[in-house]
Amino acid sequence: MAGVRLRNVTKIFDKNLEAVKNLNLDVKDREFVVLVGPSGCGKSTTLRMIAGLEEVTRGEIFIDNRLVNNVPPKDRDIAMVFQNYALYPHMTVYQNMAFGLKLRKYPKDEIKKRVKEAASILGIEDLMDRKPRALSGGQKQRVAVGRAIVRKPKVFLFDEPLSNLDAKLRVQMRTEISKLHLKLGATIIYVTHDQVEAMTMGDKIVVMKDGKIYQIDTPLNLYNKPANLFVAGFIGSPSMNFFNGVIEKNEDLFFIEGDLKFRIPDRFKTRLLKYKGRKVIMGIRPEDIEDVTEKDDNNNKAELEVVEPMGNEIYLYLKTNFNNFVARVNANRKYQEGQVLSLYFNMDKSHFFDKETNISIIN
Ligand code: ATP
Repeated sequence: MAGVRLRNVTKIFDKNLEAVKNLNLDVKDREFVVLVGPSGCGKSTTLRMIAGLEEVTRGEIFIDNRLVNNVPPKDRDIAMVFQNYALYPHMTVYQNMAFGLKLRKYPKDEIKKRVKEAASILGIEDLMDRKPRALSGGQKQRVAVGRAIVRKPKVFLFDEPLSNLDAKLRVQMRTEISKLHLKLGATIIYVTHDQVEAMTMGDKIVVMKDGKIYQIDTPLNLYNKPANLFVAGFIGSPSMNFFNGVIEKNEDLFFIEGDLKFRIPDRFKTRLLKYKGRKVIMGIRPEDIEDVTEKDDNNNKAELEVVEPMGNEIYLYLKTNFNNFVARVNANRKYQEGQVLSLYFNMDKSHFFDKETNISIIN
């Protein structure tokens, strides 16, 4: 296995479309790194440049400390698993898995051994004689992964491999790929637009937008310490709530939006004092808003517009004269649309962003 390094990598397509902008990324040996971001953010293009399927316009890509910009895909010692599986329809599962090794002129016995090994890891031994059309989506996915495993590559590249599967199978395959990562001790770079997939699978997550990296961090840090407004809103479901207001100082330091008023916790005071009288964005996650009777002056009133029971919890969609927001509360109380609630905002868990730069003021 091996690490991958991207240095100032830029990709410009025709008509000056800059799909990837000056990207720097270090993927360590055996690390599972997920590139995540909305459609068109450049994550597939980045992966394809690592694979050698797309030329690098500027910058350098190293695999296992070797500069690979001019190395053809077949000599990069990587294996890629695509969204559409890309299986050969006229070949059996065995032949599909063996094909890459056959091309590379591996001895027959070695091919047999490797295919058998991979099939056993993936639990598809019984499918060896079937053609792809006789396989379910999940089975095709396993064969596509198997075809990558038999090559024993330095790096595995996955491009949205689960997006053609139904929700249940997606969750199951997600766990399987995570287990596979542990079993093979593999270096994996995985592209998805699904933040839940990213959060549950990656050791390290790269959040991208408009061809740029917005944050590289562990799943927990992305959630608890988003570096900017985009990451704060992108990671988490339902999304973080945002309020546009000002920092005011009278007897204490407050964030004010219309008639909503929140006391700023001591630990944020030094940094927010600099924003006195200025507009900032306050963010708070739905689970950090509680429906409890007055705890302190961080209770604010809002009208309940929609109630969404989720079984173990309830999503409350609320509105004030200035804003809409969501609270995620315990399912132990009955709610009525139109009701006015007094909600406690756990400001210790709040986030603040500079209104001009959208960068976090507190992280
Ligand atoms: P998705 O999740 O939709 O696949 P993505 O984040 O993977 O999106 P890319 O496929 O990397 O995004 O595309 C990044 C940008 O580059 C987009 O604006 C896309 O239209 C453009 N692009 C991608 N491939 C080409 C190409 N071959 N020629 C021209 N433009 C391209």
